[in-house]
Amino acid sequence: MSATKGYAVHSATDTLNPFDFDRREVGPHDVQFEILFCGVCHSDIHQVRNEWGNSIYPMVPGHEIVGRVTAVGDHVKKFKTGDLAGVGCLVDSCRECDNCQKGLEQFCRQGATGTYNAEDKKHGGLTYGGYSNQIVVDENYVVKVSEKLDLAAVAPLLCAGITTYSPLKHWKVGPGHKVAVVGLGGLGHMAVKFAAAFGADVTVLSTSPEKEVDAAALGAHHFALTKDPEQLQGLASKFDFIVDTVSAPHDYNMYLSMLNTDGVMICVGVPPTPMEVLGFNLLGGRRSIAGSAIGGLPETQEMLDYCAEHNIVSDIELIDMNYIDAAYERMLKGDVKYRFVIDMATL
Ligand code: NAP
Ligand code: ZN
Ligand code: ZN
Repeated sequence: MSATKGYAVHSATDTLNPFDFDRREVGPHDVQFEILFCGVCHSDIHQVRNEWGNSIYPMVPGHEIVGRVTAVGDHVKKFKTGDLAGVGCLVDSCRECDNCQKGLEQFCRQGATGTYNAEDKKHGGLTYGGYSNQIVVDENYVVKVSEKLDLAAVAPLLCAGITTYSPLKHWKVGPGHKVAVVGLGGLGHMAVKFAAAFGADVTVLSTSPEKEVDAAALGAHHFALTKDPEQLQGLASKFDFIVDTVSAPHDYNMYLSMLNTDGVMICVGVPPTPMEVLGFNLLGGRRSIAGSAIGGLPETQEMLDYCAEHNIVSDIELIDMNYIDAAYERMLKGDVKYRFVIDMATL
């Protein structure tokens, strides 16, 4: 066992506080790395506060993890000491089911093992995430990270990046498509960057007027403030795809009416309450609502390689570990530009 420092909560109403625990010994297929940076995802808040009803405590959140390898097991092929490495939302899966075989480990029939807030089926105990100084993960669930990019700004690619890259690729979004991104936060700003990089015409639909300038800088071609009815005029039946990244309960019907014939609303945000959808908003124009969850390991590596090639990273605000509760409060107000990343040197 190796002694590990982290930050944890012990209940849904707790603040994050220092927490010491042990990681397992490095097994033959394991990679151990020092965590240098960890992004702060809104899913961390949902789970810390048990908003999805599935939380297990103590909980060490964090699933946008990057760092430098400190030890590898005897059978590890992909990594050596000193390499950069990343871990996203998954640290294990059955590896045998049809989805695992297809590289869709996030849809493992046995249930993939989350990086935190999960029982570790193989080693026992709970998994603890990236708000910590080191991690031990089977190499199959560790991705390679380029030395070319700013490492702190790479961290959010491990969740916000792959969660937006994957559906845009799945639906083959590209030139000629009109895409709207709802919510300009961690996921939203990456959706804008990828959709623009893939050649789509991108509109940001936001509740925050001050984000208009940033939306353009991130690559969006248009912006509409959804609280202002005048700015919504002309958006009826306009978009081929809408990527909804909103973390809080909101009205889906308004956005559905903005989809063109055969348009798809791709929901990646997971508000704590079910969505209410008026059937007529789907019938008219044969519209669809779809969901998408992170991405499998091969696609996560593909996304990181794409980002290294096209110089794409997240726009971040680097924070100290003890700022985390304040960061959560700011995210809940939509005040994030556009991902908080924890500098683990401050742990
Ligand atoms: P975030 O950084 O906090 O951004 C969410 C954005 O949604 C806010 O910045 C805000 O943008 C908008 N928003 C917030 N409250 C709103 C409201 N009441 N009405 C309308 N818009 C509102 O969150 P995130 O980290 O991007 O995560 C977003 C959601 O995706 C969360 O529910 C998270 O759990 C989920 N998620 C899903 C996956 C997956 O695999 N599908 C992966 C990661 C995260 P504006 O200021 O522009 O309005
Ligand atoms: Zn996440
Ligand atoms: Zn499986």
